[in-house]
Amino acid sequence: MERTLSIVKPDGVSRGLIGEVVKRLEDNDLRIVALKMIHMTRPQAEGFYAVHRQRPFFASLTDFMSSGPCVVMVLEGEGAIARYRGLMGATNFKDAAPGTIRADFATDIEKNVVHGSDAPETAAFEIGYFFNRFEIVA
Ligand code: UDP
Ligand code: MG
Repeated sequence: MERTLSIVKPDGVSRGLIGEVVKRLEDNDLRIVALKMIHMTRPQAEGFYAVHRQRPFFASLTDFMSSGPCVVMVLEGEGAIARYRGLMGATNFKDAAPGTIRADFATDIEKNVVHGSDAPETAAFEIGYFFNRFEIVA
């Protein structure tokens, strides 16, 4: 059993896509074991994306991620990290496979609706960034 962090980004929340994302998770056997809505400050977004701080898109990305509320979730299931990445589609929606969340809804390489952890180590960091043990159901 594996856990991963999912975020419906500010573009997804403002466009009314929370339910669409949750539906796809539930339909694909990714169990939601924690969920909340947050509005990150710029420093909080910078801490979350610290791994990307040298990248040219870092300032714009952290500005976007702190521009409005996000829904953050912990998902659980067999191979949850890779299976959820598969549902999301490629980072650039133009490269995302048909039927993925990003192919269906993203409008921009930055405003791509969802985030998902990419490895067990990043999942552990990202889950711990937003949730303590009492906020994740057994
Ligand atoms: N991003 C961007 N420009 C790029 C690459 C990434 O604006 O050239 C943004 C995009 O929102 C992406 C996030 O930065 O989701 C994190 O990038 P990463 O490479 O980790 O992609 P992801 O894991 O989200 O697919
Ligand atoms: Mg990533």
